Amino acid sequence: MDTLIKDGLLVTPQGSFPADLRLSGGVITAVGPELPIEGAKVISAAGCLIFPGFIDPHTHFDLDNGVTRTADDFNSGTQAALLGGTTTILDFATQNRGENLEEALAHWHRKAAGHSSCDYGFHMAITDWNPLIARELAMMAAGGVTSFKLYMAYDSLRVNDGLLYTIFKKIRELGGIAGVHCENGDLVNAMIAEQKAIGNRGPEGHPLSRPPEVEAEAVGRCLHIAGLAGAAVNIVHLSTAAGMMEIMHARARGQEVYVETCPQYLLLDDSRYGLPDFEGAKYVMSPPLRKLKDQEMLWQAMAAGAINTIGTDHCSFNFKGQKELGRQDFSRIPNGIPGVQHRPALMYTYGVGTGRITQEQMAALLSENAARQYGMYPQKGALLPGSDADVVIWDPEASGVITAAEQIQRVDYTPYEGFAVRGAARDVFLRGRHAVQQGRLIETGLGRYVHRKTRAERSC
Ligand SMILES: [Zn+2]
Repeated sequence: MDTLIKDGLLVTPQGSFPADLRLSGGVITAVGPELPIEGAKVISAAGCLIFPGFIDPHTHFDLDNGVTRTADDFNSGTQAALLGGTTTILDFATQNRGENLEEALAHWHRKAAGHSSCDYGFHMAITDWNPLIARELAMMAAGGVTSFKLYMAYDSLRVNDGLLYTIFKKIRELGGIAGVHCENGDLVNAMIAEQKAIGNRGPEGHPLSRPPEVEAEAVGRCLHIAGLAGAAVNIVHLSTAAGMMEIMHARARGQEVYVETCPQYLLLDDSRYGLPDFEGAKYVMSPPLRKLKDQEMLWQAMAAGAINTIGTDHCSFNFKGQKELGRQDFSRIPNGIPGVQHRPALMYTYGVGTGRITQEQMAALLSENAARQYGMYPQKGALLPGSDADVVIWDPEASGVITAAEQIQRVDYTPYEGFAVRGAARDVFLRGRHAVQQGRLIETGLGRYVHRKTRAERSC
């Protein structure tokens, strides 16, 4: 049966306007005022906002970091995403060194297929390079993987500057886009050793070993290399004002640069690392939390349209038994925090609710921009006839408090414990299926793989 969502206020980056939506056969079939209700189940959205289903372009589910495995897998992670209003996630398939990309992609498909409650796609993280792997890039694009990830830090993952240049060029030829983790890995190693040498082994050593310059230098170098390669790049999880300055410089040179930041860099600061009883370990992620002045700069950049997407970098490890692995040595604390469930409510409350960004900007930052950037638009990220019927009915008056006790992320804490939120996903439709009703997750396991397009495919 068709669904007719009546009397809501549609929110799009181009503007907000009252309209009804008809959903049929998994897609949106009509948008407009006073649509006829015949043959449809009518859902009232009076007093609510209607957003295109949110997209989280940065998650790590079912990831083995070499020592331990993330607390959330595709089952729990995508259920949490959907409940919060996120209908599509992009996770990172990661090539182990010595493995080819086809094997890595098949591995991630096995993790997600049949276990996902929202739709999903993969970026491919390239950690190893040879002529065979270069030829596999076209195979990735044919399989719907048109975005890639490169690391400048982490010894088991990073590529050197020459490879950055070579791979950027290949990705450009393919019509794909590279996302880059920008931290200077050599500096990080030296500064971790320095902190430990002076006896600083607790969580407070983590930010000291990765100061803003470590990010800013890598952002600048990455963007100069991308400029030489003529490639568009995406700076993922930007955390510093100094890094943002490097991006401004590259854009002023005429480069195409996309920027992602995350709620944690907007709402949490590095004072958390000083919490007693090893609690600072809950906030160990890379890059680390920064100063309030960095937060302020990121909010201003976002309001000015200089930041394109908000991802969570959801990479959850339990405090008990996992974060505790680094009790004697901060460099052994598994890196990452949960957040996929709470991103929309946090951004609505602390972004739209405070007037720092508009609701139209939220639709762009949490949905449309990611869909466009990653080759899913207008199938995803839009409230248009023909688009997938991924729809969030957002109640702007719902209020609550984030707690670990109430979350469905399968992890024993949340970095946002005690954060008040105003605004929540009341109902969520995934390709027309009414998966969340009145804030309750009703349907699970419906997630499908999203085959994404290259730049060339998008223009024809
Ligand atoms: Zn990440």
